[in-house]
Amino acid sequence: MKETIKAIQRKLGVGVDGVIGPETLGAICKVLGVEGTGNEWPTQAEVRSGWSVFGRPGREENLVNIEPPYPLYYEGKKVQTIRVHNLIATAVKQALQEVLDHYGLDEIHRLGLDNYSGSYNYRKTTGGASYSMHAWGIALDFAAETNAYSMHKPQATLSKPECEEWWRIWERHGAVSLGRERDVDWMHLQFARLN
Ligand SMILES: [Zn+2]
Repeated sequence: MKETIKAIQRKLGVGVDGVIGPETLGAICKVLGVEGTGNEWPTQAEVRSGWSVFGRPGREENLVNIEPPYPLYYEGKKVQTIRVHNLIATAVKQALQEVLDHYGLDEIHRLGLDNYSGSYNYRKTTGGASYSMHAWGIALDFAAETNAYSMHKPQATLSKPECEEWWRIWERHGAVSLGRERDVDWMHLQFARLN
């Protein structure tokens, strides 16, 4: 089945990974003239209900390790791979590559875009009863020290105007920034819509 999906993806001109994610689904809808939602990820509520493409939280078999296209550092230590849900792996790799192409290594470092603060983490939301989007491996955090949950514009470093393109790149891949949407948790991005 995987090879068949790959052949379909080649024909559609989308990323070839053998998995039907939103990008492939969007392209199929377009070809068939089906009124789809396009290249969109499910909502948080859909993810939590267990009815979305991401399945249940904490499932190791849904996770993959990806090699970032530029060096990332976790608490100052270089990370070899980052662990995410297999359905967002292509989007994450492509987004980081575009970040590298746009900013270059020096600017990436200056803005803290190489300061990685975690992705997959089987946990509940802070103070909440529901699972965090991190529990599905569909959220990533960057530069946590200077973008704490309660920090707002312009104190949160990722809210700076120079980071506009960083967010645009992620948003082009369907990711959502809580900072951009709600001016909280600027470290965080997720492949699930807020509503
Ligand atoms: Zn987060």
